[in-house]
Amino acid sequence: MQTHKSSELFHKAQRFIPGGVNSPVRAFKAVGGEPLFIERGSGANIWDADGNKFIDYVGSWGPLILGHAHPLVIEAITKAASLGSTFGAPTRGEIDIAEMIVDAVPSIDMVRLVSSGTEAVMSAIRVARGYTGRNKIVKFEGGYHGHADALLAKAGSGVTTLGLPDSAGVPPAMTADTIVLPYNNTDAVRELLESKGKEIACVIVEPVAGNMGVVIPSKNFLADLRELTHKHGIILIFDEVITGFRLSYGGAQELFGITPDMTTLGKIIGGGLPMGAYGGRQEIMEKVAPLGPVYQAGTLSGNPVAVAAGLATLKILRETQPYKTLETKTAQLAEGLAAQAKIPLCINRIGSMMTAFFTAEQVSNYTTAKTSDTTRYAAFFRAMLNEGIYLAPSQFEASFLSTAHTDEDIHHTSQAAAKTLV
Ligand code: PMP
Repeated sequence: MQTHKSSELFHKAQRFIPGGVNSPVRAFKAVGGEPLFIERGSGANIWDADGNKFIDYVGSWGPLILGHAHPLVIEAITKAASLGSTFGAPTRGEIDIAEMIVDAVPSIDMVRLVSSGTEAVMSAIRVARGYTGRNKIVKFEGGYHGHADALLAKAGSGVTTLGLPDSAGVPPAMTADTIVLPYNNTDAVRELLESKGKEIACVIVEPVAGNMGVVIPSKNFLADLRELTHKHGIILIFDEVITGFRLSYGGAQELFGITPDMTTLGKIIGGGLPMGAYGGRQEIMEKVAPLGPVYQAGTLSGNPVAVAAGLATLKILRETQPYKTLETKTAQLAEGLAAQAKIPLCINRIGSMMTAFFTAEQVSNYTTAKTSDTTRYAAFFRAMLNEGIYLAPSQFEASFLSTAHTDEDIHHTSQAAAKTLV
C-alpha cells in the first residue's frame, strides 16, 4: 500500500499540531506506523490522501450510523448552512430535536444541547451535584466519559491505549471526589453505597461499555445499579454518548428496560457534526440556568447546522428502524471472524458494536479486557489495513457498523481476517 502522501501530511502536521492529531486516539501509537489522512468518505468507505480505499469500521468513533455523506444528511446540512450558520439565539430546529430526543429516550423529560460528549457529561455531573447537594461521584474502571478533569480517573479509550491512567495536569483535588469501582460488580457498588451513600451525588456508567472495547453488562448489573442508587437517593446517569440511538432508537435504556435519572448523549445526535446533550427527569433539569441555580452555557450550543444534521439522522432512524438488520450484520461479521480465527479470541458484540479481544478469557470488565494481547491486536490491525479494512487503531475501542455496510463488505472483511488471524 502506497502511503507517501499521508506520510508527508503527517510530518507537516506534527510541526503545528501536538502529535500531528487533534485527538490522541487518531494517532497510531498503539498499533505502530503513521495515521492515514482521510480525504473523503461515502457510505461504508473512506479514501485516504494516496487514494487507498477502505471499508470503515470506525465511523468517526460512533456518529456515522448511516455511513459517510448520507445524501439526506448532506442536503439538510447544506440547506441549514445557507440560512446562516449560527445566531446565538433560539431556533426552531432546537425544539424539533429536543422533542425527538424526549420522545425517544425514556429517562429524558427535558434536554439541553451542548457541543460534545465531554461537555454533556461534565454538565450532567454538575446538575447531579447541584440537585443532590452532594459532591462525590462514582464511575467504573475502563469507563470513558470525556476529558473533564473529574472523570480522568482509570478511564478507558485513548487514556488506556496510551497507558495514562491519570492525566498530568489534573490536580488531585479534581479527582478527590471521584470513586472508581470495577464494572459489572454489584457487590462493590452495594458495599460503597451502604457506607458512603449519603455523600454520593451520582453514579455514571456506560450501560454497554465501549471504551475498554465492548463489554456487555452482566445480567442484573444495570437493574442492581438502578435499585441501589434509588435506595440511597443517588442520581443514576447513563452515559449513552455511544449507545444512544445506536443500540435501539431509545438507546441502551430502552433495550434493557432500565430507566436512569439522567442521560448523556453525543455522536449520533449530531449526525456527524459537533453536538452533545444531557437530559433527565423534569425536576432535575429544572435546576439548570436560567430556570435554576446550576450554570451551564455555550456560544455554539444547539448550533443550527449541527441540529439539522442530527434531525435528518434521527428522522431516518425513526422511520427505518434499522436496528435488527444492523444486529444481524454484526453477528455475521463476528461469526465470520470467529470462524477464521486460528488463535483465541473473545468477541463481544451487541447491536452494531463489536470488539474482538485477543485473549482466551471472557472479557467482562477492565481487568479481563487488559488480558488482551495488544501486540497481536496491533499486528491484526496493520494486516487488516493492508487488506483495505480500517479498524480502530486500538484494542480498547469498539468497531461500529452502519446501515451502509453491505453483505459483501462483511464477507470481504471475514476473508481478510482469514489471512490475518493466524
Ligand atoms: N462518553 C462516552 C461514553 C464516550 O464514548 C465519549 C467519546 N468517545 C465521550 C463521553 C466524550 O465525547 P466527546 O469526544 O464528544 O467529547
